[in-house]
Amino acid sequence: MSNAIFRVQSHKFTQDNIESTLICSNCDDVFSKEFLLDLEGQTIEFKCPVCNVLGEADLPYKTAEEREEFDDDLDEVEEEEGIEEFDDDY
Ligand SMILES: [Zn+2]
Repeated sequence: MSNAIFRVQSHKFTQDNIESTLICSNCDDVFSKEFLLDLEGQTIEFKCPVCNVLGEADLPYKTAEEREEFDDDLDEVEEEEGIEEFDDDY
């Protein structure tokens, strides 16, 4: 009994969630929503936060590439350096 389709415009996997930006086919508005990682690749139903119509969205799967990227993120510890020393010329 879905009235709308929420198309995933972009998404990003975090450690706990799938952060996605969706477009509602009913009101054409863009909204963002977080889903549990367990829901990846599933079709889920929820109400549009903008127009409140019931719709469904196909959530993306995490690709192998994205899994790797995520591993890289954990290793990426950027050290800030180059703090300039100011000479006090008094
Ligand atoms: Zn809507």
